[in-house]
Amino acid sequence: MSEISYSYIVEYIRALHTVPNSSILAEIETQIASEAETWPIIKPEVADFMRVQLSLIKPSTILEIGTAVGYSSILMSEYLNKNGKITTLERFPYMIQKATKNIKRAGLEKTIEIIEGDAVNTLLTLPSAHYDVVFMDCAKGQYINFLPECIRVLKPGGLLITDNVLHKGSVAKSRYLIDRRQRTTHSRLRDFLWTIMHSDELVSTVMPIGDGVALSYKIGGNTNES
Ligand code: SAM
Repeated sequence: MSEISYSYIVEYIRALHTVPNSSILAEIETQIASEAETWPIIKPEVADFMRVQLSLIKPSTILEIGTAVGYSSILMSEYLNKNGKITTLERFPYMIQKATKNIKRAGLEKTIEIIEGDAVNTLLTLPSAHYDVVFMDCAKGQYINFLPECIRVLKPGGLLITDNVLHKGSVAKSRYLIDRRQRTTHSRLRDFLWTIMHSDELVSTVMPIGDGVALSYKIGGNTNES
């Protein structure tokens, strides 16, 4: 077994993963596969899932929380509407430097804007009901705190995609089986998942792909909805 699925199934799905269009993305993937680098980027099956979601939505505005080296921003930019924009939040200077370089090499400086600083503060500066998609991929213990802001900045009918919500499967285990140091993250992630599944503002699902992905639709974009 892998962390949250049978490893032979994960390996098979990863073998089907398509080579990205962007040479920068292919380069980052190759470096990670060869273990030359250990940058945290979305897993191949999550990348493919995002490609499908974004192809359906054709977003004009995307907010990402957690840029790292810019891999997912560059990937998402391939599915933007013409003149679409991505805003991405990152607090770690090393990552900001790497992402800035990769975004420049990809020729996407006008499309992807990095806002530097802790999302605790930078999220508050963003406009309400502005984004078609919010991709949350940062410190898992913060998801429950960032959720109200994610809902505020999403357009009605927008989509919140949250990565790593199953935390290697530990979220599904009793807290007494979890190492004491991990218990805060465990209970915060459980709070987050319970809240999105029971919110009046969202329709959500949790999927066991990658390290767990939650998909939440913000109610209000369809005239048939009350
Ligand atoms: N989305 C990226 C990708 O797939 O290419 C990977 C993001 S990585 C898993 C998480 C990133 O979030 C790290 O670079 C970390 O520094 C950043 N981060 C974590 N907590 C943050 C916070 N509160 N504010 C801003 N950035 C944060």
